[in-house]
Amino acid sequence: MNRQELADVVLGITQTLNDSDQVSPVFLDTNFRRDLGFDDLDCLHLHLLIEDKLDVSIPDEDWRDIEAVAHIIDWLIQNQPYCPHCDCYPCRCDEVAAVTEAVERQGVVIH
Ligand SMILES: [Zn+2]
Repeated sequence: MNRQELADVVLGITQTLNDSDQVSPVFLDTNFRRDLGFDDLDCLHLHLLIEDKLDVSIPDEDWRDIEAVAHIIDWLIQNQPYCPHCDCYPCRCDEVAAVTEAVERQGVVIH
């Protein structure tokens, strides 16, 4: 996933946990506790969901410094190797190649 896709996923996950009485829109600079009223349990859920959906492991000591949506995206970008070939953090060339191969097998030409 590139930066924009990572941002979309993180924003989406945060939105699913955003069940406060007045649902606030979630932006990159949204602070979980201050803007969304997340408590410790909500933050734990968010931590687990991010790890599950993105197949990463964010250490607790790093997570303690993460207070806003943008902090998660920054962490993902800083802690996963960037691959310029597929424009992804981390590399997904294998998956891209598998999709391309499957499409080609069906006789579809990709331009
Ligand atoms: Zn790649």
